[in-house]
Amino acid sequence: MTSIFSRIIAREIPADIVFESDRIIAFRDIAPQAPVHLLVVPKTESYANVVELAAGDPALMAEMVHTAHALAAEHANGDFRLIFNTGEEAGQTVFHVHAHVLAGGLAEGSLGRG
Ligand code: AMP
Repeated sequence: MTSIFSRIIAREIPADIVFESDRIIAFRDIAPQAPVHLLVVPKTESYANVVELAAGDPALMAEMVHTAHALAAEHANGDFRLIFNTGEEAGQTVFHVHAHVLAGGLAEGSLGRG
């Protein structure tokens, strides 16, 4: 099944794309929870969540972290929160692994998204 993120990668639906490489794309979350809220997404939809990704392709996961940091430096001061919702009960709605990058004026002490 084609995920909504694969449709963004294929340019079938629009997104505000901020970064793209051969293996990764990043775009603004449509419902931002912070001044900067980006999604960093591997182009492959082989991995449903970060646990599968870490087991299957740790180098790709490291590339996502590197991309998250670079984007946080470009769009804010370089500090960021990296969130992988994993499983429905944790709030995951798209089962194509993605990292939420939150940055820019985050609430002090908050661990959540709201
Ligand atoms: P999660 O709940 O962790 O699976 O995250 C899915 C995220 O994708 C949510 O924060 C949504 O706001 C975001 N999202 C869903 N559809 C789109 C879209 N078309 N463009 C950008 N972000 C989207």
